[in-house]
Amino acid sequence: MVAKRGKSRQNIDMESLLDLIMPENCVICGAKGKSLCPNCKQKIIAESSNFCLECGNFIEESCPDCRLPYQKSYTVGFRDEAVGKIAEKYKFSSKRSLARQITDILMNILPDFSPDTVVVPIPTIKKHVRMRGLDHTKKVAKQLAKAKKCRFSPLVSRMNDSVQVGANAKKRLEQAKTAFKIDEKELKKVFNEKSAVFLYDDISTTGSTIKECAKLLKKSGIKNISVIILAKNR
Ligand SMILES: [Zn+2]
Ligand SMILES: [Zn+2]
Repeated sequence: MVAKRGKSRQNIDMESLLDLIMPENCVICGAKGKSLCPNCKQKIIAESSNFCLECGNFIEESCPDCRLPYQKSYTVGFRDEAVGKIAEKYKFSSKRSLARQITDILMNILPDFSPDTVVVPIPTIKKHVRMRGLDHTKKVAKQLAKAKKCRFSPLVSRMNDSVQVGANAKKRLEQAKTAFKIDEKELKKVFNEKSAVFLYDDISTTGSTIKECAKLLKKSGIKNISVIILAKNR
């Protein structure tokens, strides 16, 4: 399942230049150079494992045991592993340079996308975007769509700014049920019956957010739905 990276020469040159002017430390091992060194990145890719977001069993692309509102799901690893640390550093410390490292990792674990694919991020709470100065899932979803040469769409948006941190599983499920809506204009503009959607979220705790968003997409007539999660809580 190794996919080729699709980057323009201009991007690579800009990145190399930034690495030279402003070298960073690898957030995993501390090595000087990039925010994620090639060794640590390769290790994450090599050790990535795909497991069902519902039952936690290892799967190929879909779980034979769980009934889910999406067909396939792809995970990189667990939150207490290196990939979880990257997801957190990117999200909570707004370490922007990690976005392209995350995209690189995803490009290595995801299957080929059809040209009808649309990458849709799980929307971030607006207050958090303002606080962090960054919409972290949107940024990765956009970069991923560009690298995969498919479309990006902010199809799902939030109804309110309910905060999930600290809420228990039952509360989260209730919140998730009323938290999201479909942008009807975007739906008409970007989607047709052939569209395949890849929903992207960075960290998944109970899987309720991703399930509710997938259900909304299904209700809107989208049949081909897959899910990408960077790191799952055990
Ligand atoms: Zn490293
Ligand atoms: Zn399962």
